[in-house]
Amino acid sequence: AKSAGGNRFELADPEADARAITRHGLTTALPAALDRGEFFIEYQPLVHLGDGSVRGAEALVRWLHPQHGVLGPDRFIPLAEHTGLIVPLGRWVLEQSVRQAREWRARHADAERFRINVNLSPCQLTHPALVQDTVDILERAGVEPDALCLEVTESALIGADDDLLKPLRRLAEMGVDIALDDFGTGYSNLANLRRLPVSILKLDRSFTQSMQQFPADPVDLKIVEGIVSLAHSLDLAVTVEGVETGAQAEQLRILGCDTAQGWYYARPGPPERLHQLALADATG
Ligand code: C2E
Ligand code: CA
Ligand code: CA
Ligand code: CA
Repeated sequence: AKSAGGNRFELADPEADARAITRHGLTTALPAALDRGEFFIEYQPLVHLGDGSVRGAEALVRWLHPQHGVLGPDRFIPLAEHTGLIVPLGRWVLEQSVRQAREWRARHADAERFRINVNLSPCQLTHPALVQDTVDILERAGVEPDALCLEVTESALIGADDDLLKPLRRLAEMGVDIALDDFGTGYSNLANLRRLPVSILKLDRSFTQSMQQFPADPVDLKIVEGIVSLAHSLDLAVTVEGVETGAQAEQLRILGCDTAQGWYYARPGPPERLHQLALADATG
């Protein structure tokens, strides 16, 4: 028993082993999964805080794995980024989402305000074909660039030089909206915002969570208030994510946020759900 300390580093962690094995298995299965059509997209509505209307949806990819069931993006996007598969996978997500947007726009009463938000990983951002691929996908689908919003995380743009921003600028000039995702988590220089071709700030869920307590933390309220007023003074719209309760929605509306997304309105779901929501919105 006394020598037990000596071999403590040899103790196996079966869970860690299982995780590593799964990670390896998932990584090697990724390319075939794309060919076999195992990925699918769920859509979560974006709701205008002022009038409650549905203004669009965010596309969120999932993997229906033959053994493990439905896997969320946190399980495989990092692996896809590591292996480079994120480029064809991201292109597939963009193509599907843009086609879906055309359908919604055809049915939605306020079509020109209805947008599809698609996440862009840092690898896609630096890929030389980003602009051309996006243009091709929009043209093939017959969808106007202003129907598309690309979400880029704040951390992907920290310290971004002009070479990295050039493709985003070109897309923005064409009319594609660029949103700064997970804003408030990346320690970016607020003054830097002016330099970025973004038109929307997506406040990170951590801010929404701090609105859960009543009364909310006064410092957090001040911070959100400050971000919203800075954003608006720079002509940026503010979207909040992770809204789970009516109280949060009301607080964020009072603070001046423009659009919200979260379980309070709807969980991510199949595209038919959006038809219902948008149509319900259009008729009453
Ligand atoms: P994200 O872009 O921050 O997306 C929001 C995440 O919050 C989604 O998780 C969504 O399901 C979840 N969510 C929505 N409403 C609520 C709420 O009220 N409460 C809580 N607790 N969570 C909520 P999901 O679908 O697991 O996606 C995770 C991340 O994976 C996304 O975070 C995004 O960064 C990434 N991702 C998803 N789809 C894609 C994609 O097609 N391409 C790339 N590159 N990344 C993607
Ligand atoms: Ca996002
Ligand atoms: Ca986000
Ligand atoms: Ca997030």
